[in-house]
Amino acid sequence: MGGRPLLNRRLDGHGTTIFAEMSALALRTGAINLGQGFPDTDGPEEVREAAVRALREGRGNQYPPGPGVPELRAAITEHQHRFYGLDFDPDTEVLVTAGATEAIAATLLALLEPGDEVIAFEPFYDSYAACIAMAGAVRVPLTLHAPDFRPDIDALRDAVTPRTRLLLLNSPHNPTGTVLTREELAAIAELAVERDLLVVTDEVYEHLVFDGEHVPLISLPGMRERTVSISSSGKTFSFTGWKVGWVTGAPALVTAVRTAKQYLTFVSAGPFQYAVAEALRLPDTYFAGLTEDMRAKRDLLSGGLADAGFGVHRPQGTYFVTTDIAPLGEKDGFAFCRALPERCGVVAVPNAVFYDDPDAGRTLVRFAFCKRTGVLDEAVTRLQGLAP
Ligand code: PMP
Ligand code: GLN
Repeated sequence: MGGRPLLNRRLDGHGTTIFAEMSALALRTGAINLGQGFPDTDGPEEVREAAVRALREGRGNQYPPGPGVPELRAAITEHQHRFYGLDFDPDTEVLVTAGATEAIAATLLALLEPGDEVIAFEPFYDSYAACIAMAGAVRVPLTLHAPDFRPDIDALRDAVTPRTRLLLLNSPHNPTGTVLTREELAAIAELAVERDLLVVTDEVYEHLVFDGEHVPLISLPGMRERTVSISSSGKTFSFTGWKVGWVTGAPALVTAVRTAKQYLTFVSAGPFQYAVAEALRLPDTYFAGLTEDMRAKRDLLSGGLADAGFGVHRPQGTYFVTTDIAPLGEKDGFAFCRALPERCGVVAVPNAVFYDDPDAGRTLVRFAFCKRTGVLDEAVTRLQGLAP
């Protein structure tokens, strides 16, 4: 092969994801997996049954329509109206994708030219860097600093150049748990309008907000025509394996994203689309119950980690808690996470993987709390054995 590396330059450095590595480690060691973010119980039984029914009745077993089945597109628009008062046309302003992951990939591949700059707050979800790279664009990270992990709007303004095409935002934010306030979002929206930027918002944790409220950026003045809003059923309904996500936005943006999406997967997961349509129509009590359940788990794990000697950055949203291991006398999150299963039978994720500048997150470690209470209790007991 002439000595040329097989993996192209754009993907160089984007090897196995940390989630795959850490879940494999959990499997190998039998440790409690608080690394990869997936619930250890499935979502509502009626939603699972809806998928079975769709399969049996032959709905979605053959290629569904490219933009998604009409039932799901309608349910997505109803959800956006019910929770945010936003109105979308299900035919031109909604696109169903293979999870938020494909929505992010298709959006970036559709909207970016090689050399365009994309600003994202780091730490950021690992697929952002890989998708920006696949699009041949340039990522410009802006660091959210401990202990508060708030965005620095002045730094954001300074980071915009004539080459900046797009802001990539995630709120509630994985892994820090930051939920952007209405004021922060308004300042970001104002900047986007002033500098004529596109904005992509990853809102997969929209129903996991414990302090504050989730405000879709697309609802703010001037944002409708420049925002691609992304969400997914995985976190909200605890079926992360189904991979049903969606995009909402103005027709021109959704058309662009659909153009890329049709050559990635064309369509996805027919029967699950019908089930997710039913899930999105669950009563308000379901959504409130999910938030309350996860809030209790946040408090349980955050308290347990603090008792075990970790520095705890209590999240306002998501199902992750970021901790600092420096108070335990530890210096390196990677080494700590690789040794943790042997030391006490728990798996976590080093936040350093979410930064361009690994020093910025060197002693930060993320734990997922979307697990049964008994499992979290056991994990806390094990982690308490770490204290020096
Ligand atoms: N964005 C963020 C911030 C995430 O944490 C995840 C992981 N669920 C995704 C996107 C991907 O979502 P999905 O599983 O729907 O592809
Ligand atoms: N979003 C999940 C997390 O942050 C992982 C999803 C994945 O494995 N790609 O843990």
